[in-house]
Amino acid sequence: MIYLDNAATTKTAPEVVEAMMPYLTEHYGNAGSIYKLGTESKKAVIRAKETIAGTLGAEPNEIYFTAGGSESDNWALKAVYEAYRDKGKHIITSKIEHHAVLHTCEYLEKQGAEVTYLDVDEDGIVDLEQLENAIRTDTILISVMFANNEIGTVQPIKEIGEIAASHGILFHTDAVQAYGHLPINVEDCHIDLLSASGHKFNGPKGIGFLYIGKKVKIRSFIHGGQQERGRRAGTENVAGIVGMEAAVKRAYRIMEEKTKREAELRNYLIERIMREIPNTRLNGHPVKRLPGNVNVSFESVEGESVLIMLDMRDICASSGSACTSGSLDPSHVLLALGMSPELARGSLRLTLSEDNTRDEIDIVVEELKQIVERIREHRI
Ligand SMILES: *Cc1c(COP(=O)(O)O)cnc(C)c1O
Repeated sequence: MIYLDNAATTKTAPEVVEAMMPYLTEHYGNAGSIYKLGTESKKAVIRAKETIAGTLGAEPNEIYFTAGGSESDNWALKAVYEAYRDKGKHIITSKIEHHAVLHTCEYLEKQGAEVTYLDVDEDGIVDLEQLENAIRTDTILISVMFANNEIGTVQPIKEIGEIAASHGILFHTDAVQAYGHLPINVEDCHIDLLSASGHKFNGPKGIGFLYIGKKVKIRSFIHGGQQERGRRAGTENVAGIVGMEAAVKRAYRIMEEKTKREAELRNYLIERIMREIPNTRLNGHPVKRLPGNVNVSFESVEGESVLIMLDMRDICASSGSACTSGSLDPSHVLLALGMSPELARGSLRLTLSEDNTRDEIDIVVEELKQIVERIREHRI
């Protein structure tokens, strides 16, 4: 099998599983209990916050564990909207956000929020001038993703943060695709809230965190016990937290090497596809993109057909189009780049990890050449 869908999820690293095991077996204590078995768990949770805070230039009590990226995005937007209602009801985001942000914004609009969805240019970068112009006296939050999950484009986060800070507006970034892959410093980038998810950087699924800067007035997301300083009740997922911490350590240890390796393979893959498969377009920014992301559109080809034929050859990839309960809508991200729905339906996303090899890439390119040619000949 050749796995090229690392933006969807990544393989749980062996050292992550190893770190988790004791907390699934002998260290089963509730982190809220006062006896030793419980305090072992509590210490592990505190250590994990210290590790994560250290990577971001944050403080441990600014890290809140959640069940993943979707929850972190929901919490950030809903809680800021609620806590800052007296200041205003206007939120600025972009048209290419993940649905965890976009659908939450739509929900908040039903609650009375007013949301501006920023355009992006043909490479997927938000327009900073349009951002400045969109700011109103009642704007309470700017939420722009760090890097896009479909096309890999990395936003000018520092510039966005500076604009937000200069107007005294909170800045949230969905960094689910970036955290653990690119260095991030919340202070440098003026980030007030940041979402991340363990399974996007070789950690376990169902665990993530939300960084909430201490100056942010934040509301509880889950009411109940005193876990997470009373803001997110529920017995801590200690094994998940410890696993994510191990994944963080691993990610930062290998980051430089991994980035270099992936970017080289990515460039090689893009070059070969563009050279050897005619009428193909590269989606996303040519340079400002995640090291492991390739997204291309083949003219006169259905992305879904390519995926099925790749799957028959044991190659895991993804189409640019979101496949929600069988309805094949073209991707909102590709449409926002100004692409026609037809071309958007012909897109393919290949996302690499440090485990992929040049041999695998060669196999994938050869298969793709045949698949695209066959589809174009037979129109299947
Ligand atoms: C995967 C992803 C999410 C959702 O994260 P989960 O942990 O799967 O809930 C949110 N935003 C982006 C950009 C993602 O890639």
